[in-house]
Amino acid sequence: MAKHEFQTEVGQLLKLMTHSLYSNKEIFIRELVSNCSDAIDKLEYLKLTDDKLKNIQSTPQINIKIDDEDNSITIADNGVGMNEEDLISSIGTIAKSGTKSFIEALSGDAKKDSNLIGQFGVGFYSVFMVADSVDVVSKKAGEDQAYKWSSDGSGSFELNPCIKEDHGTVIYIKLKEEEISDFLSKSRIETIVKKYSNHIPFPIFLNYTEEVTEELSDEDKEAGKEAKTTMEKKRVQANEATALWSQPKAKLKADDYNEFYKTISHDSSDPLAYVHTKVEGVSEYTTLFYIPKVAPMDMYRVDFQPGVKLYVKRVFITDDEKELLPTYLRFVKGIIDSEDLPLNVSREILQENKVMANIKQSSIKKVLGEIKKLAKNEEKYKEFIEQYNRPLKEGVYQDYMNKDAILELVRYKSTNDTESMTSLAAYKERASTEQEAIFYIVGEDEKMLRNSPLMESYKKNNIEVLILDDKEIDEVVTPAIGAYKEWSLKDITSCEAPKTEKTEEETKEVAETFKDIVEKIKTTLGEAVSDVKTTDRLSDSPSCVVKDPNDPMAQMAAMMKSMGQEMPESAPILEINPDHAIVKSLNGCSDDSTIETISWLLLDQAKMAEGMDIKDPVAFVKRLNEVMAKAL
Ligand code: ADP
Ligand code: MG
Repeated sequence: MAKHEFQTEVGQLLKLMTHSLYSNKEIFIRELVSNCSDAIDKLEYLKLTDDKLKNIQSTPQINIKIDDEDNSITIADNGVGMNEEDLISSIGTIAKSGTKSFIEALSGDAKKDSNLIGQFGVGFYSVFMVADSVDVVSKKAGEDQAYKWSSDGSGSFELNPCIKEDHGTVIYIKLKEEEISDFLSKSRIETIVKKYSNHIPFPIFLNYTEEVTEELSDEDKEAGKEAKTTMEKKRVQANEATALWSQPKAKLKADDYNEFYKTISHDSSDPLAYVHTKVEGVSEYTTLFYIPKVAPMDMYRVDFQPGVKLYVKRVFITDDEKELLPTYLRFVKGIIDSEDLPLNVSREILQENKVMANIKQSSIKKVLGEIKKLAKNEEKYKEFIEQYNRPLKEGVYQDYMNKDAILELVRYKSTNDTESMTSLAAYKERASTEQEAIFYIVGEDEKMLRNSPLMESYKKNNIEVLILDDKEIDEVVTPAIGAYKEWSLKDITSCEAPKTEKTEEETKEVAETFKDIVEKIKTTLGEAVSDVKTTDRLSDSPSCVVKDPNDPMAQMAAMMKSMGQEMPESAPILEINPDHAIVKSLNGCSDDSTIETISWLLLDQAKMAEGMDIKDPVAFVKRLNEVMAKAL
């Protein structure tokens, strides 16, 4: 006997499965059947591509047996099977990062949490929601030795060689006492299979026994003979076993599409939208894409699981190819089925294949088109944007060919409205006839951005400013947009302030009046600023900081950042408001130590208002206290 301890995380997971996740237990059938289907898919593919397995003769099928005497359910497939190593790595350790991230993602809400099971690739363990003990007997196709894995879901499992005739896997589930009444029922299992697995493209048979009462002839009845009852073995096919996407659109209803979505996505809610396309002609293929209501949990992980499966003539090829759609559309789930690709298509071929490139391009158009349709429904689009605005922004940056289409779909917060978000088109429409650019400000905190001193002159001039508070991505993506329909996008922290009432003459005069004090501030602040200027972009605040658009270092920093590299920020320009009382008095001040204190305070407060770090907070506080003491 070989006893193995589960890895710690698996142990934890099993405890959760057995004790906490009980709201939607029936999904264990969905998960196990989906594994059977995956295993058959794998073998069908290997039969086509692996010479050693070419001669295997088997008709793909899944068999579920309900045993009333034994209180057990058995789920068997004739797929690829598992050997000793596979059993240990697949269902004993955290082979994938899934298990750990699943545990991290748990919210404590049993209902929500059980919806996460399939998404994290921990589906197999869901069987312990209903099982007292589980045996997995498996033989890998092309190998001779079969193995039996057994566990009661506590700390360990046993793994021993055993005898099994054919390749494939049999999962024997001894039901918990309290689950017998619920799950040991042919009609219940049939309903569950139909609900979650109707379009698994292999037949799923239910094997059960039924009490059959003998039909008595009239004579026998008159003779008072009692009808005998016997237990008879029965077998029915529970699912349709057709690839849903290969059926004509006219035959399919929203319910069919939604159910199929659930089988491929492990999501229990309906999708937000779907689009089914059959293309005939030079290139023949079918695509079926879904947009989930809620973004997949792993959307922002580097090792995200791609949502699109590739089939060639209904034969499953891969679900692990991240390039079927561009990464910014990684939230899309669905199927691509090509008639033209070779069945033994390899990853290298896929990446260079013209047929595939063509399918990819038109798939992108389809998905973007569907999102555009969605945008006509304000409420639905709000839901969409809440989940997917960020990947769309990535698309603006990544997908040059479709940039214009994506720009129509992205939404932004704006000074126009605090509640809803705006499209660039709507911004442009609202703008006055004199305006020729789209203005924006980038940062981390919406409130801070809305209150930034830099906003003052735009407010005064009634110019709308987009509030981009997803700094990490906005900072990189927005400069790359360049222009939207001939209007360039301008960062208000580095562009010229909007025109004011002051004439050029007046501006010059002001600069002249403040020349000396500006010089003094500049000397005081040294390398902390790249320049000091008077400005007319402020009304309420005494000072602000802006970036120098012509500073090569700043341009360089932005470029490095867009490539994912950190660069030290270059020193900002300090602008002071000549109409502000503090600045006016400062101009008349002759005490050098006061000028020094106030200069630093003007810079630090301006930086703080933009959410920037100040170099020396202790010195800032000291200066502030000094000024307060004087004021009192
Ligand atoms: P996932 O299916 O997302 O990988 P599961 O927890 O459902 O996660 O299954 C874990 C792994 O166990 C599978 O990836 C597969 O390698 C293996 N496995 C489970 N069931 C079977 C089966 N019936 N036949 C072959 N392999 C299986
Ligand atoms: Mg699975």
